[in-house]
Parts: sequence; C-alpha cells; structure tokens
Amino acid sequence: MMDSPLWELRTTVARLYAELVRYGLVAWTAGNVSARVPGENLMVIKPSGVSYEDLHADAMIVCDLDGTVVEGALAPSSDTAAHAYVYRAMPEVGGVVHTHSTYATAWAARGEPIPCVLTAQADEFGGEIPVGPFALIGNDDIGKGIVATLSGHRSPAVLMRNHGVFTIGRDARAAVKAAVMCEDVARTVHVARSLGDPVPIAGPDIDSLYHRYQNVYGQPGSP
Ligand SMILES: [Zn+2]
Repeated sequence: MMDSPLWELRTTVARLYAELVRYGLVAWTAGNVSARVPGENLMVIKPSGVSYEDLHADAMIVCDLDGTVVEGALAPSSDTAAHAYVYRAMPEVGGVVHTHSTYATAWAARGEPIPCVLTAQADEFGGEIPVGPFALIGNDDIGKGIVATLSGHRSPAVLMRNHGVFTIGRDARAAVKAAVMCEDVARTVHVARSLGDPVPIAGPDIDSLYHRYQNVYGQPGSP
C-alpha cells in the first residue's frame, strides 16, 4: 500500500497542506487541499478538524466524487462537497484549495474583485481575480458558485463573497501555488490602494504577459 500511487497522492496532499501553513494562509484547522485521483472517480482530502501536525498521509481521506468516504477513519473536511462538485463539473481540474487567507478574504468581505495592476497578477491570473456569490455551506451552492465564476475565466482563483478563496489547478500543487499567489497579489494591491490609485495595465499588455507566462516561462516540461 505504501508504494501505491494512491499512497503517494495522500503524501503529496499532506505535504501541500503544510505549505498552506508555511505561507501563513491558514489559521487553526481552516483551509484545505484536495487532489483528484487520476483516472478514478476519487479524490484525496484532509479530515475535518485535525491539527496540521497530525495531518500525515495515513490521516488523509479518500472520497468518491459525491463526497462519500471510501478510505479513512475520520470525517472528511466540511468543504468536501464543494471540492467534489468542482471535480464533477470541471474534468480538467486535478487539484482544489480553499483558504481564508487574510488579504484575499478582506477583498471577499467587501465583495470586490482584485483589479489587475501587477504584472505578476497578469502572469498568473490573466486579469482581475473575480468574486463569486455568497453561499452557505451544507449543499452544492459553494461548488456551483466556484464553477459558475471560474468556467471560461482565466483566473484559477475566486474570492467567494464574505467567505474566502477557492483555487483550482491541473494538480494540487498548481492549486496551492494559485492560493499563495492570490494572497500575495491581494496584499500588494491592498497596500497600493491604501497609498493612492493603482495604475491599471492595458488589456493587450495583460494578454501578452499572460500568454508568455503560461506558455514560455519556466523550465521546459516543469510546472
Ligand atoms: Zn471556508
């Protein structure tokens, strides 16, 4: 079992949850990372309410894409339904992350999209970071809001109104990167705005930054 691909994915998700902690994106047990099990109708997600020191590979929960537990002794994260909804609706998504990171959530609390005023934001998000609807936990409303906002949008991050950030990626690592970058952009634009009016970047320049970064930047073959 410990050398199976599923075990490897459990290890990856546990390690990525520690990245959320390392980057200061989560308080207490808030926040979660999940990964789609490639080729299966399954996902790996953390258990609910377990402190991050105890989030090892063997504590991870395997659910089907209806949120039913397949492997694991504990209850899955309370956000499992939202993650599962995204995987069902967006087959290209391999990882989902949720945080209440401070600056991004402050924009969500105001219901205000983050305007694209930084080249790093154009690179990663391809424009503004959008706001999704207010939604209560307990049914598919959060998942629906994420999918409705991000479908056809370049941004891999959505600020769910009055709540926090959900990000998507081709795998869990990409979704974590988007969550880290979203908080970084939210903080810098907040600081810029508190000092005056940030200067917008022209649409064609945003397009060219985005295409270059998505297609050219980095080492060949590496994410
Ligand atoms: Zn939340």
